[in-house]
This record gives sequence, structure tokens and C-alpha cells, in this order.
Amino acid sequence: MVELSTDLSPYEAVQYFFHDVADQLGIDDQTRAVLNGTYREIRVQLPVRRDDGGLETYYGYRVQHNGARGPYKGGVRFHPTADLDEVRALASLMTWKTALVDVPFGGAKGGVQVDPSTLSRAEHERLTRRYMSQVSYIIGKKRDIMAPDMNTNAQTMAWMMDAWGRAHGHEPAIVTGKPVPLGGSKGREAATGRGTVMVLDEAAKQHDWTPEDLTVAIQGYGNVGSWTARLAAERGYRVLAVSDVDGAIHAPDGISTDMLDKHVKEAGTVAGFEGAEDIEGDALLELDVDVLIPAALGEVINHTNADEIRARMIIEAANNPVTPVADRILTDSGVIVIPDILANAGGVTVSYFEWTQNIQEFQWSEEEVNEQLSRYMRTAYRKVRERAEDLETTMRRAAFAIGISEVAEVARLRGYV
Ligand code: NAD
Repeated sequence: MVELSTDLSPYEAVQYFFHDVADQLGIDDQTRAVLNGTYREIRVQLPVRRDDGGLETYYGYRVQHNGARGPYKGGVRFHPTADLDEVRALASLMTWKTALVDVPFGGAKGGVQVDPSTLSRAEHERLTRRYMSQVSYIIGKKRDIMAPDMNTNAQTMAWMMDAWGRAHGHEPAIVTGKPVPLGGSKGREAATGRGTVMVLDEAAKQHDWTPEDLTVAIQGYGNVGSWTARLAAERGYRVLAVSDVDGAIHAPDGISTDMLDKHVKEAGTVAGFEGAEDIEGDALLELDVDVLIPAALGEVINHTNADEIRARMIIEAANNPVTPVADRILTDSGVIVIPDILANAGGVTVSYFEWTQNIQEFQWSEEEVNEQLSRYMRTAYRKVRERAEDLETTMRRAAFAIGISEVAEVARLRGYV
């Protein structure tokens, strides 16, 4: 059991959500120990030669949380806060997410503790290759499959695929989110944001809201945040504010994402965009908008600011952005929270399509990818909504209940519990 408190670590926070639902499902302690604990954790030393000849030593992690439903699956992030606890938390979220959206994977995550802005491109490549070669013996298309996350992208995946292939033979299926010419899937780059907007559409339908009446603020303008902004604006939602690590912008009449993209290309940040006013990064979370979409870091909505949130709905495009205490405060004040394991599941869903295409050695069209993504996301949303209505509970508890029940059933059939 984990008691509700303001100082839970990321992994303790996910455990809190797990036990909260396991209590309701009546899961016994022995089964909990198997489902909640991690299967394998590794920490690797990564000495990397700097361009100036010096040697810098970093540390990387890979955590395989649960593989009852299939090969381990999860992204790799490069971030100064990446540590074993955070990677465990993200790995366990992947277990419940893959089960909820019903793709045949378990849950894993990787991280390298580094500030990538301090690395040249060549140093970034050497660090990526070193990380992959140090963890490569637990990676495989039927063992554990990597993908992009914060500060990693299609290029990072290409280096990883190449590094793994040099030791074990050419095998594109060991990473997803690759560049399309190397076996990546069409539609993968936009998939997480596209899935988030599909969830937004379903939520709007459920609550009888029309896109044109809904104002949206998005924290983070990287892969997930920028695609969410672009596709939401395309569907008529009024995107009023976005941010990144260097600043935040707000335009009461809406932001043109086409113009913003041009600005970001030149300036490297959303800050200073002519079509909007610069605001404080933290102020974005407290804007008077209908929908708030955190799409950057974890724990950004916590006991210090949960009371200040004015949005009617939070859609967790980031992983773990709302702490358990904040979740309680928001729920008590009637804010609807759509949890990460549903809201950002579009990424792993199209990663599954990419893996399938690699194994079949056959490429799908972008239309087919998006159509199948829509089917998976809308089915998952409907299941969560129905479960929440049946149990008269929150979308988070309903989503965890589905994920945990699926994994528990498979673990029982395999004889693990
Ligand atoms: P990214 O590196 O492409 O983008 C991250 C963005 O967050 C950047 O714009 C960065 O400037 C911004 N950012 C960082 N610190 C910030 C801060 N303090 N305030 C405001 N903005 C800040 O990463 P991404 O792949 O878009 O991932 C974002 C989130 O989505 C993460 O929580 C990740 O785990 C989650 N996620 C990503 C995927 C995927 O397919 N990439 C899938 C599921 C979930």
C-alpha cells in the first residue's frame, strides 16, 4: 500500500493509483506483488568521448515491468531527471496502457540521465549507440522493443537500430518510431498527438461540447504537443496557448499553428512568436481555458497548483503529469481528468502497427494507419467511459481497472499467479 501524500516519487505515485484500483478489484497481496513489481531493471555506465577529446560518463536505465501479454515495449528518454524511479514509473504505466488499448505487448521504459542540449549531434549519436550496445542483450523483436520519448526521435531510433544490427543482424522490428525509409510506419510521428485529439473528440462528444466552443492550452511543443496543437486546430478547437522549455505564449483569439511552426523553425522556441503574447511558463497551466493538455514533463500539476487549475478537463498527453494529491483535488472540484494510459496511447498503438509491418515486411498507407488508430483509440475510450459509468468512478480508475484486469487474467493463465 502507498499512502496518499504530497511527496510521493513518480513510481510511488503510479503504485498509489495501482493499489487504489487493486483494492476495488479485490486483488490479493500475492497477485499484487507480481503485477506491481518490475521484472528486470538494468543500469548501465555510458562513458562517451566528447568532441574536445574529454571523457564524460553518463548512466542509462532500462526497466522491463511486465511481459505477461507480450514482448516488453516502451520508449527511451534523454533527460536530466531520468533515474531508476522515474523509469520504473513509466515502465509500469506502459504495462497498463498496452493492456488497455489491447496491443500485444508488455510494459518497459528506458532513460539516459543527460541534458541533451549540452551534446553535439556527434556526441548524441555516440551516447545513443553506447546505450543501445550496453542494453542490447535484453532487446529483441520478441523480447523488448524501444521507441522515442522526450528528447529522442526518429534519428535516435535509426542509430539504435544500426547499433543493435551491427551486433545481432539487421532487424528493423527492434525499434519503432524509425524514419520511414528505414522501415518506420507512415503516421507514427504524429500518432501520439493524433490519438490525443481523438480522445479529445470523444470527450467533447460525450459532454455535448462542440470543438469551436472549446479553448485549449497545451504545455510542451515537441513531438506530442505540437501534433496535438496542429491537429486540434485543424479540427476547429481554439488553441489559445502553448509552451516549451524556453517559454510560453497566449493569444486570446487563437494561435495559427502554421505560422507558429515557421517561427519555431527559425527561433527554436515558441517564445517571441509575433501572433501571441509571451507569458510565464507556469501561468499556462492556470489559464482560463476549457481543456488543458500537459504534453511535456511529469508531476507538473501537483498540490502547489491543483487548486488554481481553471480548465474543465485535463487530457494527460504527457506521462504522469498529475500527482495523486492533485488528482484528488481536481476530482473533488469536478475537473475531468483523462488519464495518460488512455490519452497518449496513440503512440504505442502505431508503434504496434510499425512492428507488425516490419514483421510482415509490408508497408501500410497512412490512411490505413490512421483508420486503424482511430478504431483502437475510440474502442479504448468507449471501454473506459462505460467502465467509469458502471463503477461510478473516474476515467483514471476505470482505465487502470481495465488494464490491471487484463494483465491479471493473462498472468493467471500463464501460471504466474
Ligand atoms: P519531446 O522531447 O519531443 O518534447 C518535449 C517538449 O516539452 C518540448 O517542447 C520541450 O521544450 C517541452 N518542455 C520540456 N520541459 C518543459 C517545461 N518545464 N515546461 C514546458 N515545456 C517543457 O517529447 P515528446 O515525445 O513530445 O514527449 C512529451 C511527453 O509525452 C512525455 O511525457 C512523454 O513521455 C509523453 N509521450 C510521448 C510519446 C511519443 O510518442 N513521443 C508517447 C506517449 C507519451
